[in-house]
Amino acid sequence: MIEVSNLIFTYPRAHQPAVRGISFRIEKGQIFGFLGPSGAGKSTVQNLMIGLLPMQKGSILYDGKTLSDMGKSFFNRVGVSFEHPNLYEKLTGVENLRYYGGLFDKPVIPPEQLLDMVGLGDAKNKRAGAYSKGMKQRLVFARAIMNRPDILFLDEPTSGLDPGTAQRIKEIILSERDRGATIFLTTHNMYAADELCDQVAFIDEGRLVAQDSPRNLKLKYGKKAIKVEYTSNGQIKSEILFVDRDEDRYRLSQLIDSGTVETLHSQEATLEQIFIKLTGRGLS
Ligand code: ADP
Repeated sequence: MIEVSNLIFTYPRAHQPAVRGISFRIEKGQIFGFLGPSGAGKSTVQNLMIGLLPMQKGSILYDGKTLSDMGKSFFNRVGVSFEHPNLYEKLTGVENLRYYGGLFDKPVIPPEQLLDMVGLGDAKNKRAGAYSKGMKQRLVFARAIMNRPDILFLDEPTSGLDPGTAQRIKEIILSERDRGATIFLTTHNMYAADELCDQVAFIDEGRLVAQDSPRNLKLKYGKKAIKVEYTSNGQIKSEILFVDRDEDRYRLSQLIDSGTVETLHSQEATLEQIFIKLTGRGLS
């Protein structure tokens, strides 16, 4: 179990904190999603959790232990895939994995097998520097799972991949969870969060604004949502309004009274619509 409490972090010379008091718990074997727009503070939290940034305030405990309690053993237990791939560009795909695999004090999945899993079998002898962005991302992902980690950190694991490849990566993420790994996934993609995560936390401006399973979030906010299409200055506009919110009911009656309403549809809200409702901003 991972327990993060009252995390606060300010970058040197920044005027305000990037992370402003975030707390959450991740149960073992869960996929926990951090969903929020660019700049919300997701990567900062991930980097604090893996020790790439120094702790300032708050605590992060893995089964009751801090990173310094665990020392080097943490490296054997963890897998990390960054959004911006950090690879040895002059080494081939298979050499990158062989080199990295040699750093562990435990057996790892053979590089060739990993490359086949992520669809890079044919490119294994090509230099990583000649890989496309999506190929580099898959290589970093393969590297993250090679030590069969207990805890897997994935930063935007499917962004920029074609749909077929993204699907393959999603299936591997689910099978990692089924193997027992606890997964921390950061994304601004509501579809990835919805499909993959057992729990989703909405992150905005360094704060956690809501947390629940995607299903519960949608049940809680979605059942009573109405999509209103209306005309404004000759253009069709649409809004999602929640009938259990005073200001939304007022807005709905305003629109109806204005005589501009074209259509009304009750609907299940998407995670992005709920996010907008709670924070006033979209995910991208
Ligand atoms: P996200 O991962 O959600 O896109 P980040 O954690 O990268 O968000 O960024 C959170 C905030 O911290 C942003 O305002 C960003 O500009 C700022 N930030 C990120 N990295 C640095 C850095 N190395 N130095 C200063 N500010 C940073």
